[in-house]
Amino acid sequence: MRAHRMKLIGATAAAALALLIGVTVAQGHSPVVGERRFTNDNQPLPYKFLVPAGATTPYPAWVYSATNGALTANWPSAADNNSRTAIFSSTATGAGTVEYTPQNTSPCSGLMNWIQCSSGWGTTSFKIYIRNFLVQPDPTTGWRWYDTAGSCPVYDSTKNNACYYARRGLIHEVGHVAVHLAPTAAHTSELETDTVMRAAQPRYNLSGWNTETLRECDEARAQLLYDVRNTAGPYAGCFDHIAGGASPNGLYSKATVAASAYTVCLGTTATATGRLAILTTTNYQELSNNPLSNRTLWFDRKPSTSSTWTPNVASTTASNASPGSNWSRAFTTSATTPITYNFRAYYLGETGVNASLAQGYALFNITWKSAPC
Ligand SMILES: [Zn+2]
Repeated sequence: MRAHRMKLIGATAAAALALLIGVTVAQGHSPVVGERRFTNDNQPLPYKFLVPAGATTPYPAWVYSATNGALTANWPSAADNNSRTAIFSSTATGAGTVEYTPQNTSPCSGLMNWIQCSSGWGTTSFKIYIRNFLVQPDPTTGWRWYDTAGSCPVYDSTKNNACYYARRGLIHEVGHVAVHLAPTAAHTSELETDTVMRAAQPRYNLSGWNTETLRECDEARAQLLYDVRNTAGPYAGCFDHIAGGASPNGLYSKATVAASAYTVCLGTTATATGRLAILTTTNYQELSNNPLSNRTLWFDRKPSTSSTWTPNVASTTASNASPGSNWSRAFTTSATTPITYNFRAYYLGETGVNASLAQGYALFNITWKSAPC
């Protein structure tokens, strides 16, 4: 069983200082370390709330809303976690458990000064614990949950009365459980702007205190390990420093065409086909050769006798077909005498994916001939 402890105030202060002096990305900005522990894509992870024996009242409403919100809405966010990672559901009989507990030592590590923690990472019988500060206040810190009253007192460093947002803590724990992100006690040194998997949870009003979803470098590792859930969805903006990745956007894409030359009769239509995909390389793990569905492929054209290209004379939208061709485009000409045109196809790129031009154009010719043809 893996266990871990959240937070040290010193580390929180260091993170805040780094932001104040203007440290930006560049440094690091790589997928958070992680391991694939679930064999299945989209592994179901049902969970239940574990009210302690003898307790006669359920947990405060915010415990349910924050937990269910973090696990079933924030976690699988299509915009922030487009990966085939585990999917949570709240059920009465779930193997996973969530407990709001007044223990003053961490149920995961036995250490003091805990806020929330998790264990059983990468298993269906995971456990998430949220500390009940009202019943068991920390004797030295005066910590509390923002969620209890929907507000926090003014932070007093002499009392260290920090308070925390439950969904921010929970999305971190879920990262451990469902992707097995940062499976070490050291967590990650990526910046708060790129990850929710640092050792320290930012207190109220510090950068990232109310982040509810994965950050780009968390999603990047989830995608490398588990692939994208939706091939038309976004790629994480954190692949530019991985092996085989490059600035400005990260992963390479590649546009290819099925044939280098097409020949048809004058007055008829020629249809070119090909593939637009993430580059095929083991460096990209689950993302290698993914179809770039719903992306636009552009075509430049020139007469074979000319040296001047006319840009963007046509476009087409790639599909999610895989393997094989996932784009096609019909071309005609108004010419009445035989002619050959040169075409070159390319994709402009996006966050997480470089333009296909880095791998060269997809080049082909179409010849319109007189009969017999
Ligand atoms: Zn952690």
